[in-house]
Amino acid sequence: MAIVEVAIPIPLNKTFDYLCDVEVRVGARVKVPFVRKKVVGIVLAIKDKSDFDKLKSVEEVLDDVPILDKPILDFLFWSAQYYHHPIGEVISAALPKNLRLGKPAKIKKVTGLSIATETPDYQITDEQSHAIDEVLKSQANYHGFLLHGVTGSGKTEVYLHITQALLNQGKQVLVLVPEIGLTPQMITRFESRLETRVVAIHSQLNETQKLDAYLMAKNGEAGVVLGTRSAIFAPMPNLGLIVIDEEHDGSFKQQSSFRYSARDLCFIRARQANIPLVLGTATPSLETLKNVMDIKITRLTLTQRAGGAVLPKVNLIDMRQHSGGALSALLIEKMQQYLDKGKQVMLFINRRGYAPVYFCTECGWKAECDHCDSGMIYHRHINRLKCHHCGDEKMPEQTCPDCKQPSLEVLGYGTERLEETLSSHFSNTPIIRIDRDTTRRKKAFAEHLEQINSGAPCIIVGTQMLAKGHDFSNLAMVSILDIDAGLLSLDFRATEHLAQLLIQVSGRAGRNTEQGEVIIQTRYPDHPIFSYVLSSRYTQFASNLLKQRHSAMLPPFSHQALLCANAKNKQNAEDFLREVAGLLKRIKMESVEIWGPVANSIEKKADYYYFNLYLQSNDRKALHQMLATFNQHVSKIKIKSGLRWYLDVDPID
Ligand code: ADP
Ligand code: ZN
Ligand code: ZN
Repeated sequence: MAIVEVAIPIPLNKTFDYLCDVEVRVGARVKVPFVRKKVVGIVLAIKDKSDFDKLKSVEEVLDDVPILDKPILDFLFWSAQYYHHPIGEVISAALPKNLRLGKPAKIKKVTGLSIATETPDYQITDEQSHAIDEVLKSQANYHGFLLHGVTGSGKTEVYLHITQALLNQGKQVLVLVPEIGLTPQMITRFESRLETRVVAIHSQLNETQKLDAYLMAKNGEAGVVLGTRSAIFAPMPNLGLIVIDEEHDGSFKQQSSFRYSARDLCFIRARQANIPLVLGTATPSLETLKNVMDIKITRLTLTQRAGGAVLPKVNLIDMRQHSGGALSALLIEKMQQYLDKGKQVMLFINRRGYAPVYFCTECGWKAECDHCDSGMIYHRHINRLKCHHCGDEKMPEQTCPDCKQPSLEVLGYGTERLEETLSSHFSNTPIIRIDRDTTRRKKAFAEHLEQINSGAPCIIVGTQMLAKGHDFSNLAMVSILDIDAGLLSLDFRATEHLAQLLIQVSGRAGRNTEQGEVIIQTRYPDHPIFSYVLSSRYTQFASNLLKQRHSAMLPPFSHQALLCANAKNKQNAEDFLREVAGLLKRIKMESVEIWGPVANSIEKKADYYYFNLYLQSNDRKALHQMLATFNQHVSKIKIKSGLRWYLDVDPID
């Protein structure tokens, strides 16, 4: 009888041996008994000896053909090792739910067959053509490219050309996009241009659709897999290219459980498959720019907007000369001018709800969440105070709980209040609000987009949800209302993200031949960020930031890991990390700095107290050696009940 080594989705750095009396292959799913339950695991190895005796037996072999082939398994092992995360959980994160549950690996409905129906009515530009040629020249080898093109410069067009060329050779292409970048328009654009099956992998699909997409990628039927971050794990036997669009986007990082960066993993997957990798963006991350500097990847540029469109002009409104209200008189005047010309305008404010502060004008009392260190946001249509951290809701008080006066008021603006203010200024113009509250219903977002795409003049009010990917041809003006908090942030990545956001948001304006306009309201018009953004000098701004990061030895010039512990008992969380720090210090890696434990910037969330321990080193190897040793010994630290902890390698916040 054979012995099989099985990975089981539990948070332990262990695999388990079972007896198996039927034939089974590595990468197949098996149902096995595990602590009084039956669980689905993956066979990692077949052997004739085990270090354990009294082995239990495999109950059922679920796959004749392995669900994970060797290249994907190798990739998952690499990922588990790099992120110091249990292989069972890594595999589990890589599989669609129905496969995790042990359901049959059968396609229910074949979708996405496309007969290319559209050919563009324009010629590709010289810059586009150069980019396409360069990537295709290295199609037989691993090579990384940054496709650095201003918003609307025709990057997607470049992806489409390269993809078609590779499809013609029987290759498959993986395209990763940010969470909110995978719009129906994007999918349609690929479907209507490419002669292949395009399958999408994202969170809006139901489980059957997700399984079908996964299996069509696996059996090679899908020529293109278009997905959000988890699609990096899609099995693709003929993978010939990976594209990662808007590579700077934060949503490529998974922020719970198995905390991986799909952007970083792209490099590993492309290297293992020995294929090219294209990272596209108008605003490269500092990590990617450093890779260009170090000649690890090649930069290809698209300097012009495609089809004759020009970049918008950017103007600042100094809000120090303006009292009260979210909208300056000048902004209202500008909006009216564009609307009169039959154009659309868009306003960004990065907060949903009515008002962020509900307070007492007499004594200064402020509504706060009982479960978090955070204020409650007032939502008018439901007349509730809501916590955006834990979701808790309550009726607003009528009199101040402290001074008992009926002097409670709201302060500040969210999308809901802005919509209300706008309708008082522009009573005859439709206002379309797009945020998580107005798009909760399944088709709502698509309906809003349809209304905007009709081209009729309107005012669009939205959160960052709108900052990416959407191409509204009649949108002439974009305004950003509340960026000052970002300018003052202490997070060392804040300015990088703000510059990216400003440029991405600006990129929404004037996508056709008429020049668009961007208006930024700020109380800090002299902040250096504006002089760069105003003149579209992102690269120069980013290289200054890189110099600052270098002199401070911050990422990408050093490497970080974060250990976070949280518990309802504050002391337990802090004590645990103190012990962890003690253990780490005993490992003695001179080059690794250990800092903490310190309370998280929001210490209490949903009744749990969060503490962090930071590790940093210039030497990535040393840092990882320390983490590996730590992992072997962490079980010696006694974990008090109710304490949760995790490790985040290369954290981004
Ligand atoms: P990006 O992905 O860089 O934002 P897109 O590929 O979406 O840019 O292109 C922006 C717009 O320009 C699209 O409407 C696209 O159809 C059009 N376009 C792309 N390439 C060209 C070209 N060579 N000539 C004219 N229009 C183009
Ligand atoms: Zn009061
Ligand atoms: Zn809360």
